[in-house]
Amino acid sequence: MLRRLLGIGVTSLGMQRLDFTLEATAPGSRARAARFRTPHNEVLTPTFMPVGTHAAVRAQRREDLLESGAQVLLANTYHLLLRPGTEIFQKFGGIHRFMNWPRSVLTDSGGFQIFSLPGRRTLCEDHAEFKSYTDQTLVRLSPERSIVTQKSIGADIMMVLDQCVPSTVEHSVARDAMERTHRWARRSLDARGESPQALFGIVQGARFMDLRTESARTITQMPFDGFAIGGLAVGESTAEREDCTATVSELLPADKPRYLMGVGTTRDLLEAVHRGVDMFDCILPTALARQGVAFTSIGRRDLRRAAYRGMEGPIDPACECHTCKTYSIAYLLHLHRVQEPQGWQLLGAHNIHFYLQLMRTMRRNILEGTWLEFYHAQRDVLDARDSYGKPPRHVTRAQLRLSKMKRGRYEIVVRDAIGRIRDCVSGETMHSVNDPAQEARSLYVEQSRLAERLSGPGIDSPPAPLIIWDVGLGAAANAMAAIAAAQLLSSRVKPLLLVSFENDLDSLELALHHVRWFQHLRHPGPRSLLDRGSWTSKDGLIEWRLMQGDFAVCKTRAPAPDLVFFDPFSFKTDAELWTLQAFRELAALWVDESVELFTYTYSTSVRAAMLAAGFHVARGRATGPKAETTIGLTSRAAAADHGHELLGAEWLTKWRRSDAQMPLGAGSETDWRAAIEGHPQFAGRFG
Ligand SMILES: [Zn+2]
Repeated sequence: MLRRLLGIGVTSLGMQRLDFTLEATAPGSRARAARFRTPHNEVLTPTFMPVGTHAAVRAQRREDLLESGAQVLLANTYHLLLRPGTEIFQKFGGIHRFMNWPRSVLTDSGGFQIFSLPGRRTLCEDHAEFKSYTDQTLVRLSPERSIVTQKSIGADIMMVLDQCVPSTVEHSVARDAMERTHRWARRSLDARGESPQALFGIVQGARFMDLRTESARTITQMPFDGFAIGGLAVGESTAEREDCTATVSELLPADKPRYLMGVGTTRDLLEAVHRGVDMFDCILPTALARQGVAFTSIGRRDLRRAAYRGMEGPIDPACECHTCKTYSIAYLLHLHRVQEPQGWQLLGAHNIHFYLQLMRTMRRNILEGTWLEFYHAQRDVLDARDSYGKPPRHVTRAQLRLSKMKRGRYEIVVRDAIGRIRDCVSGETMHSVNDPAQEARSLYVEQSRLAERLSGPGIDSPPAPLIIWDVGLGAAANAMAAIAAAQLLSSRVKPLLLVSFENDLDSLELALHHVRWFQHLRHPGPRSLLDRGSWTSKDGLIEWRLMQGDFAVCKTRAPAPDLVFFDPFSFKTDAELWTLQAFRELAALWVDESVELFTYTYSTSVRAAMLAAGFHVARGRATGPKAETTIGLTSRAAAADHGHELLGAEWLTKWRRSDAQMPLGAGSETDWRAAIEGHPQFAGRFG
């Protein structure tokens, strides 16, 4: 009956059940892209399998799972054996019809649950016995019973029953469990017989490399259709897990799928793909959604944090999922606070979509030969902890003095393990309070809706590049944030041209000598920019150019921008960049252009200079201790649907009373006053 349901005839021993094809291996890495075929669909790897323990992914509808591109769901033999029980699966002819799921299902064998869930259990060579948590009866699970159950569930991929031990056990205990797992693996293969369902062997051995090696060698001698690395994510350190993954995956045959069980965060997945793993499952996307935590292209975001209250925009500006297209952070935070189940569902749907999208982006980078760049650009972004709105930790003067490093007029100041550039001449430190990478993403990448602009509907054919001016390259935090955001997009319509302006390259050179304090520089781009004056991504879609010299001069030689990240030192250090004259020159240069300029200051005199020069001026979002920042718009940008909040009457009233109403560098001029009073942005709004 099952064979009929699976649409496959009787098989012969030795058949290629998954018809696995290795498509590409990334140069300089063990990352690989492959495909295989189950009785239900073709699976493209690397892939993530959402966990549907009880034949349902928690709080998620099958429609959303299908739409987000889930190829395989993971269900659990232990739980399904107890409820609904194998007779229900027999009646329905398997889990696919029972839950109406058209794609593949992988079933865990139950080993992990027997040995990790609390409760009494006994173990002998033949089987494990445990008390059912539903009715307290004794349940016996042997390798054969596990396979019979998985057969009746109708899994496309079954797992052998294994004995899991905590990572803290002694060597002898780990060896016993491993050897039993090997004997049970043979019995599982015999029990599978000629079923068309694939069966994976599991490598055990706890944290001991000699055991892991022995286990991999033994298990791969048996004719399994794929191999899993089990017993990880049970208490070992990240480094131990990564070492173990690398060692074991090296020993697994290249022509079979490799599955790392129960791992992990997005960063864990990136690291494991880099080490040659193809398949993953983890409850984190839905489990953390319940706690209000989102995985995003700019790191983790924790909606429990008051800093997000009232915040507009999606949780992930680069995400295309239904949740991100429909709801603001503020609304999701609200749903979480009032414990509305829909909040869990929406955030879970986003997290699953983000995981699956990330896997597809990894696959594309492997196939296109850009894996290493992608890997280096993403590893510190993906799992970045949410520090939005957090005050800096206290650091003593002595610690500060120790942590300084110098080059030319610049030195590095380290706080919270993050480097900042300080100009020794003026004494000014860039981003002295905020995390530069966080600020780069928030103020520049997110506020400018960069991801949306790069992936929005293409009008031009071939598309003209989106051009960003990065004024004040510094340690390249803003430029790298833009590049990282662009590289995470799986479908880019527009190419990106990033033009960085800097007159003194010592700051970037200094930071590159201390990348441990400047994690965003772990990427080939910055070095290439310094050595060759430019960098182009392998797919040719991102070009980064350096314009070295005074901005006042260089700006006339660069192509007109769509967006400007205006992040030089403040007027205390770089006075000439903030004057009325400087903004007038920009306004003249962009007289026919639609340009949005984002900057971190909200100084009244800078806003006055921008207004007097003819820019429309809008309120930018808050950052660190600053209640707001500033966005300048050319007339054409202001006429478009920009979505920013222009300064209004209230600001003008405050400005009239301000001591700082005169634009910088206005000298004895007076016509700026009339230009501001008569600015079209204030016209018609009040008396
Ligand atoms: Zn989303």
